[in-house]
Amino acid sequence: MDLDRHDFELTELMERIRSSDHRLIALQLPEGLKIQALEMMDEIETETSAKVVLAADPCYGACDLVHDKMKMMGVELVAHMGHSQMNIESGMPTQFIDVTYDGDPELTPVIPFLENHRAMAKKRLLDQEKPVELSTEDAQEKFLDAVGRLSPLTDTKLGLVGSIQHLHLLPDFHDRLEKAGYDVTIPLGGARLSFPGQVLGCNYSGDQDDIGHYLFLGSGDFHPIGLVLHTGKPLAMLDPYSGDAKEMSLERIERILRQRFGLIMACDNAQSFGILIGEKPGQMRRTLALRMKRMLEKHGKKGYLLALEHIGPELIDFYPVDAFVNTACPRIAIDDAVRYRKPLLTPFELEVALGEKQWELGYQFDEIP
Ligand code: SF4
Repeated sequence: MDLDRHDFELTELMERIRSSDHRLIALQLPEGLKIQALEMMDEIETETSAKVVLAADPCYGACDLVHDKMKMMGVELVAHMGHSQMNIESGMPTQFIDVTYDGDPELTPVIPFLENHRAMAKKRLLDQEKPVELSTEDAQEKFLDAVGRLSPLTDTKLGLVGSIQHLHLLPDFHDRLEKAGYDVTIPLGGARLSFPGQVLGCNYSGDQDDIGHYLFLGSGDFHPIGLVLHTGKPLAMLDPYSGDAKEMSLERIERILRQRFGLIMACDNAQSFGILIGEKPGQMRRTLALRMKRMLEKHGKKGYLLALEHIGPELIDFYPVDAFVNTACPRIAIDDAVRYRKPLLTPFELEVALGEKQWELGYQFDEIP
């Protein structure tokens, strides 16, 4: 990653520090940008009269605000970098810095994927059938189908989305793609998202019935996996760092679905569950956790509420329960499944395991609204 081409907006941050005469500020950065932290701390301390504390614990999203702890330390301002503000109360002055990247990749390498995906979406639009009652076997097959599982399509538009560092590219890419013959929409999501076209690992609320396929501007598989799991729609990826294009492989999504299916089946006879509640402000779903406990009790099973700041196998595997259900960051159950000795389900998966939700609905991604 070329850090010189990221905009950390230090000039604006230092202006704010000087104008408010702050004496102690904190930086919070995602893991990939921490390598740059000490250099930034030096620059801020040289150019202003503030001292800088780095919030050095792992940080994976704006769901994970350190503000209370920093307040206790006497910090007057937190600069939270690499994520945008969420619909949670931070409790103290915060400057959210997107850290945009100036890469502007060519469109050409991604066009073959988009052509193929548009054809898939058109076929799916034509082939749509009225819902029929399915046998259990057919319903379980539908659960495992990576594409075309959820709501009916009304059109085959191209949904243009990206991760926060690259969202400034979307308006120009919208026009370039329209010129290339695509009907493009930049979806608007719910309150957890700050910008049009933005996606998070736990929120794809901008998805619409008229979007038939997606183009994601960003790097890595984290957001694409969630988007395809959530929507069941084909997705092409264009990486502004490398200029490379690829698609999210449907085989990979089907492998994840098969794994989720196996974990649900493995909970068939489970009698006791640990219900994980995330302590991070943007991951705390207490009401959902309590609903899971009541649901387990209704089915004659035990549910123990376990609150954690960080979740990892070493922190939960030893509890004498048969399985876990996770109400914290949804991606812990999906992306880290193999690290746990016991099944770790999402709330939807527990509902399927208990027969409260039906297989034929297709897989439902655990979204935090
Ligand atoms: S809850 Fe998980 S996926 Fe959502 S922003 Fe936080 S770390 Fe990312």
